[in-house]
Amino acid sequence: MENCFYNGKEICTYDLKDKYHYYISELVEEWKLAANNGKLICSECGSSVYLAAGPIVEPYFAHYDKQSCPYGNLTESEELKKGKRLLYSLLRKSFPENEIHARYKMKNGIYSTCYVTNSDGNDIAIDYHLQHSSIGKFQERDQYYKSSQITPIYVLGINKSSYDNQISWYENLIQKSIGLCVFLDSWNEKILLKKSFDYKLGGLRKIVFCHRIYSIDDIMIDNRGAFISDFSDECNKIELSIKKEKELYEQMMLDKNKNISKMNDIRPDILNTALECLKRGEGQLVSKRYMDYIIENKLL
Ligand SMILES: [Zn+2]
Repeated sequence: MENCFYNGKEICTYDLKDKYHYYISELVEEWKLAANNGKLICSECGSSVYLAAGPIVEPYFAHYDKQSCPYGNLTESEELKKGKRLLYSLLRKSFPENEIHARYKMKNGIYSTCYVTNSDGNDIAIDYHLQHSSIGKFQERDQYYKSSQITPIYVLGINKSSYDNQISWYENLIQKSIGLCVFLDSWNEKILLKKSFDYKLGGLRKIVFCHRIYSIDDIMIDNRGAFISDFSDECNKIELSIKKEKELYEQMMLDKNKNISKMNDIRPDILNTALECLKRGEGQLVSKRYMDYIIENKLL
C-alpha cells in the first residue's frame, strides 16, 4: 500500500524517490524510525504498519500482522505500482504548489489513482488501470467526474495493440470523454498519446491516427488537465488536412454536377445536326456552345 498516517498526516511512498528515481535517504530513515516507534498507522484499519523500501520493488507500507485489512491485502503488479508512482511524480512536477493525493477516495466512495486539488479551476483526477473495466463502471466514474466538475485523465497500461492503428471500443469511450487516449509504459517511463480521426468522404469511411511518444520526464500537465506537448499541434494539422480533403471532394462533386447540368442543356437533335454540319465542313453553322461540347467530349 502507498499511503498511511504519520502523526495524523497522510504520507505516501511515492514521495520517497526523487525525479531520478533514487531514494531520498533522510525520508526513508525518518519513516522507518517512525514505524519502529509505532507511529505509522494504516489509513483503512488503524493498525501499525512498517515501511519496506528495497532496491528492486517499489517501496510500500505493510502490516505487521497479516489480517483482514482490505487495503493491506491489496495485491498489485510492479508495473502498476511503478506506473502510479510515475504519474504521482508527474503531477508533483506539474503542480508544485498544489495538494496531490495518491489513492484518493472521492465523495462517491470510488478511488482515483492520483488527485490534484486546484484552487484556480477544476480538480484533476488521474484514473490509471492496466486493463479496461466494464462499460458500466467506466460510465459511472466518468459521469461522477463530469457532474462534480473534476477533470479526469484516463491512463491505460501499454500493450502491443496500443501502437496499432486500430482503436478499441474502450479507447473510443476514453477519447469521447477526454479527446484522446493516454498509455503509460512504466518500464520505459514513456507516455504514448493517441487520437483517432474517423470521418466520411462521400459514402466512404476513412480513419486517420495521430501517435506521439514522450519521455515522462519531458512532459507536463496544465491546469485544464491537458498534456503540454506538441501533440495538439499535430492533431490540428491532421484536422486541417481532413478539412481540406473534404473541401476538395465537395468542389469535385460540384464540378461534376455542373458538367452533368451542362450536358442536360445539350439537345441531342441539335447535337446531331451540329455533328453533321462539321462532317460536311460547315463548322461556321455550329454555335460556340455546341462546338465546345463536341470538343470537350471528343465527339468527332
Ligand atoms: Zn490496514
